[in-house]
Amino acid sequence: MYKVYYLKDGTRINYEDLSQSGRYLIDLDERPEIGSNLEIDNNLYSVCMIMEHNMVGVRAFNFKDDDEVDETLESEFTCPYCGHIYQDAFELEDTGERTCTRCNSELEFERVVTVEYSVIPKKKADVIKIR
Ligand SMILES: [Zn+2]
Repeated sequence: MYKVYYLKDGTRINYEDLSQSGRYLIDLDERPEIGSNLEIDNNLYSVCMIMEHNMVGVRAFNFKDDDEVDETLESEFTCPYCGHIYQDAFELEDTGERTCTRCNSELEFERVVTVEYSVIPKKKADVIKIR
């Protein structure tokens, strides 16, 4: 028997005892796979950890409607399927493929670098008054 706990984003996780970190959701008869998605009471959860004592940690997510799924171009690595922001994207190569760390959908990405100039006022130019 596996006990599933919902781990809210931003909660500090007690890896020894997930029941101290999350809300109990349900029991599962079979061991789920890490990275599999579960639908429980019309809510979607992805399995992110399976710890001792058969405690399973899940994170919540939502899929966008299919007609809203489109390429994203944002300052952060944003999953087009669920909107999850991947915080460690700076560690990625410039182009590649990976799965979303939240909803496990397959993604292809390219890092787009833009150049900006920061200009600091230093001294305003003088003007010679003639008349
Ligand atoms: Zn996603």
